[in-house]
Amino acid sequence: MIKYNLTCKCGETFESWFLSSSEFDSLCKKKLIKCIYCESSKVKKSVMAPNLPGKSNRISKKSKLEKNIKKQLLDFRKYIEKNCKNVGENFSREARSIHYEKKNSQGIYGKTTPEEASELIEEGIDVVTVPWVDKSEN
Ligand SMILES: [Zn+2]
Repeated sequence: MIKYNLTCKCGETFESWFLSSSEFDSLCKKKLIKCIYCESSKVKKSVMAPNLPGKSNRISKKSKLEKNIKKQLLDFRKYIEKNCKNVGENFSREARSIHYEKKNSQGIYGKTTPEEASELIEEGIDVVTVPWVDKSEN
């Protein structure tokens, strides 16, 4: 037996027991699952939410933390964009030329594949991979 929280288009939620999730699916297809409040068959399985006390608190803390991390990454990105030269796809070539020709250059940033990045690191070139957060997102 499996218990689902069901949500009706009328906005009510209720619980119902089913033999299995496939039983639920077939009953749902045949429109045999009816809202206990309004008899509508437009009911949907809602996401199972364990009733743990304080869960919502924890969620908001987590998203706050994620926001903070994102903000820091964004600040970091801004810092890099302000202080380093964007070499785009030429990153590994530029990084090598700075390293081997001892060019006294400002920092650079650009795109590279994980393989290229690990090659550069093996050659003793100082590269860091940073998650490039999208500025448009919030
Ligand atoms: Zn209903």
